[in-house]
Amino acid sequence: MQVDFLQREACPLCQSGQSHTLCDLDYDEPKLKAFIEHFYQGRIGKTTLLRGRYRVVKCGQCGFVYQDPILGDKGMQLLYHDWVDQEHSLQKKKNAPAKLYQQYAGQITTLSRLFDKPPAQTRVLDFGMGWGYWCRMAQAHGYDVSGYELSFERCKHARQMGLRVIDNLAQSENQFDFIFANQVFEHLAEPVQVFSELYRCLKDDGIVYLRVPDGRGVDSRLQRHGWSPGFDAIHPLEHINCFTRKTLIDLAASTGLHPFNPPLRLKWGGIRGGIRREISDRWFTTHLMFRR
Ligand SMILES: [Zn+2]
Repeated sequence: MQVDFLQREACPLCQSGQSHTLCDLDYDEPKLKAFIEHFYQGRIGKTTLLRGRYRVVKCGQCGFVYQDPILGDKGMQLLYHDWVDQEHSLQKKKNAPAKLYQQYAGQITTLSRLFDKPPAQTRVLDFGMGWGYWCRMAQAHGYDVSGYELSFERCKHARQMGLRVIDNLAQSENQFDFIFANQVFEHLAEPVQVFSELYRCLKDDGIVYLRVPDGRGVDSRLQRHGWSPGFDAIHPLEHINCFTRKTLIDLAASTGLHPFNPPLRLKWGGIRGGIRREISDRWFTTHLMFRR
């Protein structure tokens, strides 16, 4: 069996037709083939991907780095339902180190400084909630939380944990104070359309939080050294969009949203770590908030 790939006719961010190639490999290329075989534990047939190529390009206009072509609908379905090992993914989440939960708690503590009302009156959407563990943490902090997720297995698991799962965002216009989208936008074929849908779901002073793999320097490293396993921000098949701080800001600007800095969180007790974190969060990271 072979799957079809889709050409992205223009830059998914700015619609420019000008781009140049940073890397272009057959899925038969030995290093890439070995990586796919190992990562997906042999779940992808030897000839399944041969109609496509692993090609990473950079937009000549806005500088966005993205994969072109990408898997078509059938391939995407197979990727997220069959090729990614669901049980392994769930077990990995269930057995995640304490650090992950501390990170979630930190994000929810930041959330508590954003709105002048009790958590129970703050409506939160976890867009692309996965197995629902961030949602559950937010719920435990008293927030009115809903999750949205395409995977049937993940929705089922989230419901079993007592979470509210939304099936259709079309009925959620103007509903949420805070939308959390962690490690989602790098996977989307149409990031601008999806962002505008989230924008529609935000209340008038709502805030959207985006977090993506850090794509800084990927273009020059690719040009200098070529592709090698471990380039997480351009993971073949899955991370089809590679954002930097600049291109995340461009994405939000497509709806007129601008970056928003949460209130300072310096404390005298940990002033050095606090300053370091503030500097990193304000200028260097690929996790940003935007206020409507
Ligand atoms: Zn562009």
